[in-house]
Amino acid sequence: MALLKNAKSNQTLNEKQWDEWNRAIFSLFWKIWLLTLFVELLLFIFYQPTPECSKGYYFYLFIVKPSGIELLALVLFQLIFTRVFKSHNRRTVSVYTILLISIFAGATVCVHTSVGMLPAMLLLPMMLTPLYRDIIMTMLQAVLVILLYIANYFYFTPNTPYMLPQTSFSPVVDICIFIGGTVVTCVILEKVNQDIVINEERSRHDSLTHLYNHECFYEELEYYRKRYEKDQKPFSVIIADIDNFKKVNDTYGHAFGDEVIHKVGELFMENSKKEGFSARYGGEEFSMLLRHDAPEAVAEKIRADFAAFAFQTPLGEAQFTLSLGAAVYDHPRASASSFFEEADSALYEAKRSGKNRVVLHKD
Ligand code: GH3
Ligand code: MG
Ligand code: MG
Repeated sequence: MALLKNAKSNQTLNEKQWDEWNRAIFSLFWKIWLLTLFVELLLFIFYQPTPECSKGYYFYLFIVKPSGIELLALVLFQLIFTRVFKSHNRRTVSVYTILLISIFAGATVCVHTSVGMLPAMLLLPMMLTPLYRDIIMTMLQAVLVILLYIANYFYFTPNTPYMLPQTSFSPVVDICIFIGGTVVTCVILEKVNQDIVINEERSRHDSLTHLYNHECFYEELEYYRKRYEKDQKPFSVIIADIDNFKKVNDTYGHAFGDEVIHKVGELFMENSKKEGFSARYGGEEFSMLLRHDAPEAVAEKIRADFAAFAFQTPLGEAQFTLSLGAAVYDHPRASASSFFEEADSALYEAKRSGKNRVVLHKD
């Protein structure tokens, strides 16, 4: 279970990732809900559990009750997790997914106690656990599933009003199905998941600085623009280019040049952790999005920290500088790239007027 152990389960999701996870999970649950309802309706039409059970009671017991519980849980969870919480970590997503799927499984179990293969259905939540990428969450899911099974065995089944006479439980067989199925599913899904994680990480990050890449930057910029259209909260962009970098490479070599790029990457990461997003825009160019309209202070801090940093080179200590351009998105623009152009022209101005400085674009 290397993947589950190694995964960054506490990884903080930015707003876009949080929205994406919510959208994906709730659309999956709505599909499961509709599909279950469809199957319940088929059962209602074609199956009568016992002759004395009236159609009306059957409709309540097999359709209204489970679908109602699931619908209520789904609506409540969706309201709470998409409206109230705005940004969280991966574990929050795992917790509510586990709770939702357990409520779904529980609603089915407490109604369909007469179905002998029901314990196998409890495999479903376990099958989904590799998606959490989190060993603690998988354990939690296992405990919930086992509790549901115990509740089914000792309470729901003995108390069901319409149990078919031939139904008999064999816990040993059920447990074997459950454990075997879980292990096989986890092994297969872990492998698939591992590949997905590796590819996902590789395709989104720059390997030298571990910042996001150019493509992610534009995706994020689009997301910030859409959010501005919704709530009119301004945001800003900073771009930076290392000064005289060709000379750095020529003097100290490209491997040393990479170290310098790495340092700028660190500064960008540190300074955007709380309120923004950083990317390696290109070779020795960096970009940052900030969720406020005061980019100058952040840009100035990066400039000063970088200029003060003493690099150890074979020729002794050396210091380098950085030019930065910034722009604030406080009114709509025709496109993301036209806004980016504003920061780019500010950067050009910083270079033109002597380098090692910050210039804010003025309309
Ligand atoms: P300016 O102050 O005007 O920016 O001058 P400059 O010399 O920095 O010019 P420019 O920004 O055009 O330089 C880009 C250089 O960055 C050219 C390229 O060799 C170098 N470069 C781009 N990517 C990398 C990289 O990944 N590693 C190293 N070592 N160098 C890189
Ligand atoms: Mg450049
Ligand atoms: Mg440069």
